[in-house]
Amino acid sequence: MKKILIGTHNNGKFKEIACLLPKKYKKISPIKLQIKSPKETGKTFRSNAKLKVKFFSKFVDYAVISDDSGLCIKALNNRPGIFSARLAKKHGSFFKAMKFILKNLKYKKNRSATFVCSLSYKDEKGVVTTVQGILKGTISTKIKGRKGFGYDPIFIPKGKSLTFGQMSKVKKIQMDHRFLAYKELLKKVKI
Ligand code: IMP
Repeated sequence: MKKILIGTHNNGKFKEIACLLPKKYKKISPIKLQIKSPKETGKTFRSNAKLKVKFFSKFVDYAVISDDSGLCIKALNNRPGIFSARLAKKHGSFFKAMKFILKNLKYKKNRSATFVCSLSYKDEKGVVTTVQGILKGTISTKIKGRKGFGYDPIFIPKGKSLTFGQMSKVKKIQMDHRFLAYKELLKKVKI
């Protein structure tokens, strides 16, 4: 069976990317291989996604896929953006980070936000392809739902009334930023 390394230590992301990939692949986690994460020194989602895929591919001789993603909130100057995971770390949990965001948006009229995903794929021959998916939406006024991961309970995709935290996993992964990026990737490479 062909192998692919899904270069992330985030379990939520791992599961979503694994669902997107064809069944023919055995999906390998860097946790199983005891590989640590690289430092995210890039200034953009794109540069961090590329940095991750290049880092993880040093350890294996098969294909690697990595993403860098995050929540960009218009009224907060597009923050936390590439710092989405780091914001949660700083506050001690995603729940506390979401509370912090809701407090900061309390008196803001504009609650629009985007979920961004840069997806980078390195094939067996070493060719790297990087694409992006952007999903528009708004930030809810309360933390709603227990499904998903990260900031899912405060993000309402455009045209929907439920947060990702309230939606089934199947519904979410058929419309989210990772799905949109993966669709772009399939236009460029055969996986
Ligand atoms: P990083 O790409 O490892 O820097 O982490 C991105 C962070 O953005 C994650 O830890 C989550 O907090 C957040 N994030 C990215 N995608 C999603 C998603 O689909 N749902 C909820 N939070 C997400």
